[in-house]
Amino acid sequence: MTLPEFKLLRPRTTAEAIALLAQHAGSIRILAGGTDLLPSMQQKLFEPQYVLDIGRIAELKGIRRQPDGGVEIGALTALTNIERSDVLRQHYPVLPEAAKTVASPVLRNMGTIGGNICLDTRCLWYNQSLQWRKSCAFCIKKDGDLCHVAPGGTECWAVFSGDTPAALLCLDAEIEIASTSGLRCVRLADFYTGIGDDHRRLRPDELVTRVFLPASSAGYRGAYRKLRIRGSIDYPLAGVAVVLKRSSEHIEDVRVGLTAVNPAPVLVKGTAELLAGRRMTEEWAEAAGVLAAQTAKPLTTSALPPEYRREMIRVFTKRAVFSLATET
Ligand SMILES: Cc1cc2nc3c(=O)[nH]c(=O)nc-3n(C[C@H](O)[C@H](O)[C@H](O)COP(=O)(O)OP(=O)(O)OC[C@H]3O[C@@H](n4cnc5c(N)ncnc54)[C@H](O)[C@@H]3O)c2cc1C
Repeated sequence: MTLPEFKLLRPRTTAEAIALLAQHAGSIRILAGGTDLLPSMQQKLFEPQYVLDIGRIAELKGIRRQPDGGVEIGALTALTNIERSDVLRQHYPVLPEAAKTVASPVLRNMGTIGGNICLDTRCLWYNQSLQWRKSCAFCIKKDGDLCHVAPGGTECWAVFSGDTPAALLCLDAEIEIASTSGLRCVRLADFYTGIGDDHRRLRPDELVTRVFLPASSAGYRGAYRKLRIRGSIDYPLAGVAVVLKRSSEHIEDVRVGLTAVNPAPVLVKGTAELLAGRRMTEEWAEAAGVLAAQTAKPLTTSALPPEYRREMIRVFTKRAVFSLATET
């Protein structure tokens, strides 16, 4: 599987990058670490005329404490640096927990947080070679008009399968987006559409530049649990991030984020209302697990059955909520 032909553009500043995006919008793709884009280009899922390699833009790298106690992360920060960051491990532990499960060490050295947030959605019928897809008459997401997952349907159900966005949703993260029209900030929760073949609210001339973690989300305990086929490298087939704040008596707040079971990463609604003010018991942890499983809508987009993936969402949520609330 060779790469299609393209022209490589290598800006050194954000200003240069967004000018190039505006100039070639529609025929250009952003390349950060390239760990997802390049395999997809080899499979001819994308055949852009231009590739914008942003890897040399130093101003988009790094993790910085904000004066208000929050944290700013450059979109080009490698996942390894997020996994190892003392500031994040101390104040926002759910994020390094999720980052350290992405792919493998080599891929985390190359892969960036911006690329993880902007990751394309995945499906058994989509992430295949051109020949394979052609033999199945293609699909809605690429080159065809039928859905193999929901036959007769007109919507694409490809699944968002990045690990860190579930954790970032729990932390109420915002992202900064730059274009030649200026900067805009959006809550990550508003960034995803929930539509498999058009999953991000990002124009072709826009670049994600920074991620902000608010001071109000610092100090929560955090856990990330993930189901995958090969424990050493694979994308999640079900992922649960949990953050929890407690006093010596009871739970004060809890948030649960899911990934790899819907076309967007999602926060489970109602978890705080269910658990805040309570002492944790097996029964309340089970109730949180059931709520999370009801939010998960997996379909046959991967090699593991949807029923099993939904069940693992229940199990992971129950275990994570219980241990965060009870361990000293
Ligand atoms: C074998 C294998 C296993 C993997 N396992 C996992 C896994 O377990 N979990 C997981 O989450 N991922 C996994 N990945 C995917 C990938 O390694 C990570 O998601 C990584 O974080 C992607 O970041 P990147 O910088 O390499 O993105 P790229 O491949 O460079 O880009 C990914 C997408 O984001 C867009 N993009 C990148 N940066 C920006 C930006 N700043 N602004 C706007 N758009 C942008 C690109 O145009 C592209 O569409 C795996 C990949 C491989 C090859």
